[in-house]
Amino acid sequence: FTSQEIWSFVPDFDGKQKYVAFEDMAAAGVWAQSEEFRAKWDRIIAVRDDVKKVLEQARAEKAIGSSLEAKVTLYCTPEMAAFIATIPVEQWEDLMIVSQLEVVEGEGGAHGEVEGLGVAVQHAEGEKCQRCWKYTADIGSDAQHPCLCARCAAVIAE
Ligand SMILES: [Zn+2]
Repeated sequence: FTSQEIWSFVPDFDGKQKYVAFEDMAAAGVWAQSEEFRAKWDRIIAVRDDVKKVLEQARAEKAIGSSLEAKVTLYCTPEMAAFIATIPVEQWEDLMIVSQLEVVEGEGGAHGEVEGLGVAVQHAEGEKCQRCWKYTADIGSDAQHPCLCARCAAVIAE
């Protein structure tokens, strides 16, 4: 039933069946977005991959345990900084599964595959939220939830 509901939102195409149950499994990429959209995602994934490598190294050196214990600093050329800024910082954090992300224009960090990007990892600041496991400086800012970050406390309150 849910699949059928989703199906109703898939744009019409030649030979589209009324009921999703009558369709074969789709080939990947049939409804893929524009070239520009895919190029952007390729770049996002390349940045994430560079970060991943530095995170793995930090784990091996026991500077961090899980990636959520990390604060990542991206050292960027102005062009790279502008690209990073096209996506909210929190979404980058979620993509990288880290607690904190800082963008600095200038030289620094380890260089990977992505041009104009250096990556450094240190232990995240603040304490660990017991709900989302992110490290933040605002744990317990809601007195009713002393072990939660402000964001989670707000979610619980809803
Ligand atoms: Zn939280």
